[in-house]
Amino acid sequence: MIPAAPLPMQPDTVPAPVPAVAAGAPRWQRLWREAVRDPRELLALLGLDAAAAGISDAAAAQFPLRVPRGFVARMRAGHLDDPLLRQVLPVDAEERIVSGFGLDAVGDGAAKKADGVIQKYRGRALLVATGSCAVHCRYCFRRHFPYAEETAARDGWREAVAAIAADPDIDEVILSGGDPLSLATPKLAELTALLADVPQLKRLRIHSRLPVVLPERVDAGLLQWLSALPWPVAFVIHANHANEFDASVDAALAALRGTGAQLLNQAVLLRGVNDSVDALAALSERSFAAGVLPYYLHQLDRVEGVAHFEVPDDEARALHAALAARLSGYLVPKLVREVQGDTGKRPL
Ligand code: SF4
Repeated sequence: MIPAAPLPMQPDTVPAPVPAVAAGAPRWQRLWREAVRDPRELLALLGLDAAAAGISDAAAAQFPLRVPRGFVARMRAGHLDDPLLRQVLPVDAEERIVSGFGLDAVGDGAAKKADGVIQKYRGRALLVATGSCAVHCRYCFRRHFPYAEETAARDGWREAVAAIAADPDIDEVILSGGDPLSLATPKLAELTALLADVPQLKRLRIHSRLPVVLPERVDAGLLQWLSALPWPVAFVIHANHANEFDASVDAALAALRGTGAQLLNQAVLLRGVNDSVDALAALSERSFAAGVLPYYLHQLDRVEGVAHFEVPDDEARALHAALAARLSGYLVPKLVREVQGDTGKRPL
């Protein structure tokens, strides 16, 4: 049972606003600005009755709705239980306080190495490149993250890059956020130009949901930047359901593959979104058809406001075993959980 109690408002943790779009800005930035931000508009677009949807204005105030219109177009009209809609609609269940769900579910604060730099595992450092995202996922484990203070870009990346350069054990940098591709390409190029002077770096990893939720972000400038990077690149997309893919996403992913990047998918196991063998198998098969290898299936990080998405561990293990019995091994992602203080993701 989940005891009902109001979710505390934390306006200081709301992610950074979308920047203004300059004249002549890339198309993806205009599409970003045109994202749906009003839950009632979203429901109206899908022909759904807002009064029956359990919308929470308090949850929307704490973590606003944001969803690109192209992603909305992949939702099924008339279905309140649509797996894509469930990922973005602020609902009453987010207001419940549940024991064991906190503000920093995975120990980001304890793993801080410098402003905007998090190191949890040997050899890898994560850069919080920005607090902005094109979509706001209700299950996000960083929905309470203090982006205003913890963004690596703040001083022209200098402190963050210096912290990485000073540690000879770090040979892989992970661009995360927020969504790093929400930064304009010249800003990304500014960062990687500085990182290129760090001799111990061997790999770059990019975690981004943008190729799926706003595939127009994969434009000529981005591809040129990626192609010119001096390291092998692992590009981790975050898709949770097969319906998130369409022809525009396939084209974006094919273009990313064309830069030589290795594409991987990391999904979160979510109640009401992908908590069935059929949904997980379809996700793996659809990812692979788009040239993306299933990598991780994450148990939910226990952050306040997301408890209604949780699938118990026993059920998660049973789903994973059934998936392994159905699919070829390379289509079966590792089922893992992040535990503060561990030396890597913990297999379930
Ligand atoms: S794109 Fe990633 S960081 Fe942004 S809201 Fe979704 S899960 Fe969180």
